[in-house]
Amino acid sequence: MSDQVLVINSGSSSIKYQFVDPVSGTAVASGLVERIGEAEGRVQHHYDGNTLEHCGPIVDHTDGFGLAYAMFAKSGLGADESPIKAVGHRVVHGGRLFHAPTLINDAVLAEIERLSELAPLHNPPNAIGIAVTRKQFPNVPHVAVFDTGFFHSLPGAAATYAISHDIAEAWGVRRYGFHGTSHEYVSREAAHFLDRDFGELKTIVLHLGNGASASAVRKGHAVETSMGLTPLEGLVMGTRGGDIDPGILTHLNRAAGMDFEQLDRMLNKMSGLKGMCGVNDFRELFSLIESDDAGAKLAYEVYVHRIRKYVGAYLAVLGGADAIVFTAGVGENVAAVREDALSDLDSLGIQVDPLRNQSPQRGPRVISSDDSRVAVLVIPTNEELAIARAAWQFV
Ligand code: ADP
Repeated sequence: MSDQVLVINSGSSSIKYQFVDPVSGTAVASGLVERIGEAEGRVQHHYDGNTLEHCGPIVDHTDGFGLAYAMFAKSGLGADESPIKAVGHRVVHGGRLFHAPTLINDAVLAEIERLSELAPLHNPPNAIGIAVTRKQFPNVPHVAVFDTGFFHSLPGAAATYAISHDIAEAWGVRRYGFHGTSHEYVSREAAHFLDRDFGELKTIVLHLGNGASASAVRKGHAVETSMGLTPLEGLVMGTRGGDIDPGILTHLNRAAGMDFEQLDRMLNKMSGLKGMCGVNDFRELFSLIESDDAGAKLAYEVYVHRIRKYVGAYLAVLGGADAIVFTAGVGENVAAVREDALSDLDSLGIQVDPLRNQSPQRGPRVISSDDSRVAVLVIPTNEELAIARAAWQFV
């Protein structure tokens, strides 16, 4: 069996994992533990064209990992530690300390736990995933790959909030950015696809999934991104609204009596597309639009308008772009968003070709016309592969 890297993405209510052959880039097996902490949880493990499934309550992350490991053993993976040669862990927040992929020891894990202060929804489950998996696979390197890492290079002007310097310093308040693994992977792939040197390209990446973020990349380094201290800032997302006037929060606290917990829930779970029209999946959004739902139409317009604003801003930040790249669930699958977000921008050298854009082709592709000065691309993201390769470097 070929060498493999186990990639772990332990999120707030789910665990995703993949066994990746880091040389060929193929996923050998994968799985998903869903609805942790709920009465009806589910584990699905896919390998060799087979699927193992378990339904029932999953008490917590440790329980979820236990169920997944039992399936690894049943499918002949990880019975002993071979062929797993390294484990790569997605860690959302690296704070000011971590940016490069980092070999995990007790001190690194303690610091990741400490950074929960900055990412209370994300770092705690990341840390549990690391602790449990280190016990399961004690003799291979475990490597943390940080979502914030690629944005370590943000210049001061982009990373600094215009608030009190002393408060910002004391509490680590700055723009960190997220989805960095995807932005880096996709911008590198774009350069490769265009047969250009990553170090000479100016690229705008639009990572549009359930969470969504934009980045501006110049000469191989991120110089702007839409997410900030937390993954709440920036573009409109499935359940998060992106940019809002912070005064809304004080207003709702004073006028509506909403407390901190209610505001936090509103910002994370009840805003964005879901907040505006009740659904957060584009397939459901389009069926509402087809049935003439005014709220859904407006939600779509707000979503697309925000992307246009960011593209305009990042063209100015970069002084023009060579490429604009769409990626993630919406970016890869929803042609209408790509077309509407970049319509009527001929004067800026951006022309999406309608036929190319509608093509059902998968994989990296050009969707701009031959006359477009800026290449518009769709590049599927593959964060698992990027994490696997980062971990593999330590073997
Ligand atoms: P995340 O990794 O942030 O959870 P994804 O990148 O998988 O999210 O994107 C999920 C979203 O992508 C879905 O909520 C849906 O809106 C959209 N999406 C995915 N596939 C399709 C599709 N075939 N058609 C339309 N929308 C899709």
